[in-house]
Amino acid sequence: MTATVPLTATQRLLAKQPYCIYCGGTTLATTREHIPSRVIFDAKHRPKGLEFSACEPCNSATRKAETVIAMLSRVFPDRSVRSNKSEMRKLADAAFRNHPGLADEMHLDQVAGLQRLGERAKNLPTWNFLNVNGPICRGSLDQFGVKLGLSLHYEATKQIVPVGGAVLLNHYSNVDAFTGEIPPDLLGLFGEGTTLKQGRLEVSKQFRYSSLWAEDTLNISMHLAVFRESFGTLMIVAHDANHLPEGSQVEAFYI
Ligand SMILES: [Zn+2]
Repeated sequence: MTATVPLTATQRLLAKQPYCIYCGGTTLATTREHIPSRVIFDAKHRPKGLEFSACEPCNSATRKAETVIAMLSRVFPDRSVRSNKSEMRKLADAAFRNHPGLADEMHLDQVAGLQRLGERAKNLPTWNFLNVNGPICRGSLDQFGVKLGLSLHYEATKQIVPVGGAVLLNHYSNVDAFTGEIPPDLLGLFGEGTTLKQGRLEVSKQFRYSSLWAEDTLNISMHLAVFRESFGTLMIVAHDANHLPEGSQVEAFYI
């Protein structure tokens, strides 16, 4: 008589989708990718969900970038969680260790920031402006955004973006939110969004996302993800890079 060994969560996932969803759909997956990863969430308490088949190189490719995302997303920490200060310090240490030069480029000229905001500066919850446009910060946001876009596309449509596809990204910082650079129409289109939930644990104050796609095509989709009150990323994902909108200021990344 042989005993049946129960499948692990990773084995169950790989049985459903054997191919890595991040590199064109032709490489066999060997790992389970959680996106966003646990480090983004308070005390690493991450509900289940948004778990995807990945090959090892794709899985580990964003590990350093995620330390930057984890820190950025805590610039406006949820004050109801006590552990946040020490957590923030630890994450900042990790991000700066992994990315020499990051601390300098993130420093935004506070006076220029205030002038840009004018009257609206009065309404700011904090004076902690964030510059996310330096090359190191931007590189991490892009790497992470592409992966998140491919993940949310798969979650919505169950389709892997093939080679020749692309992801368009646009990042909005907390400064952009107060200067009206996030188009209100766009926010209206996406609505409140959803989050990860498991039992009583729900993390909408830390991460929300919303996806739009057409049931009849499934080869193009649009997503908005918001991390705490710190930054948001808009992702447009297409199986054919030629189907992406032209002329916008967003940047395309090809699979
Ligand atoms: Zn891969």
